[in-house]
Amino acid sequence: MIIGLTGGIGSGKSTVARAFGSLGIGWVDADDIAREVVAPGEPALSAIADRYGAGVLHGDGTLNRAALRTIVFEDPTERQWLESVTHPKVRERLLARLEELKAHSPYVLLVSPLLFESGQYKLVNRTLVIDVPVDIQLQRTLERDGVSETQVRSILAAQLPREDRLAKGDDVIDNSDDHAYMMQQVIKLDQRYRTGFPDTTIIGDDDADTCQRRPT
Ligand code: ADP
Repeated sequence: MIIGLTGGIGSGKSTVARAFGSLGIGWVDADDIAREVVAPGEPALSAIADRYGAGVLHGDGTLNRAALRTIVFEDPTERQWLESVTHPKVRERLLARLEELKAHSPYVLLVSPLLFESGQYKLVNRTLVIDVPVDIQLQRTLERDGVSETQVRSILAAQLPREDRLAKGDDVIDNSDDHAYMMQQVIKLDQRYRTGFPDTTIIGDDDADTCQRRPT
C-alpha cells in the first residue's frame, strides 16, 4: 500500500514522515525527486538547456531555477512544455523508489506538498493530510525558513486551500499541538495502515466521536 502524505508549507509533512520513519516505514519526498530529475547529466536538464539556452544554467552546470521560473512564470505554453518533460520522469522515479522501499516496509509513504494539485494522488492508495491552522503554518514556516511573511503568503496562495485539502484527504493528522500529540496520532495510524485495511480518520484522541469515517 502507498500512502500519499500531503499538507501545506510548514504543516509538518517532513516531521510526520520522519515520525513514521522512526517506526520503520519507508518514505520518499516528491520534492527531492523533482530536484533529482533536473540534476546535471539528466536528460530533462539537457532538454531544458536545449530549449532555453545556457542562461538557465549556473556556471557549474546546475539548473538556475530562478531563471527558469522567470521564463515559465507567465507563459502557460512553456510551463506545459516543462511539465511534459519533467512530470513523467518524476513519476517514473517515484514509482521505482517506492517499489524499492516496499521490499523493507509494510507500507510506504509518498510525501508531496502538491499531491492533489499535481495529480500524484493517482499513484497512491490512500491519502493522509497533515493539518494545521494557517496562523500556525505561517509562524512555523517563518521560524524555520527565516523568509518574509509576504513570501510565505504567496506560496500559501499557490497551494490548495486548507478546507479543500481536508475534504480530499482520507485521513487527517492534527499537527497543531506538540510533537507528542503528533506522535500519538502517527502510532495509531501506523497500526491501521499495517493491517492494510484502514477505515478511520484519526483526529487526535481516543474519542470515537472525533473520528471521521470514510470509505477505503
Ligand atoms: P513541511 O515539511 O510540511 O513544510 P516541517 O515538517 O518542516 O513542515 O515543519 C515545519 C516546522 O514546524 C519545522 O521547523 C518543524 O520542526 C516544526 N514542527 C512540525 N511539527 C511541529 C509540532 N507538532 N510542534 C512544534 N513544531 C513543529
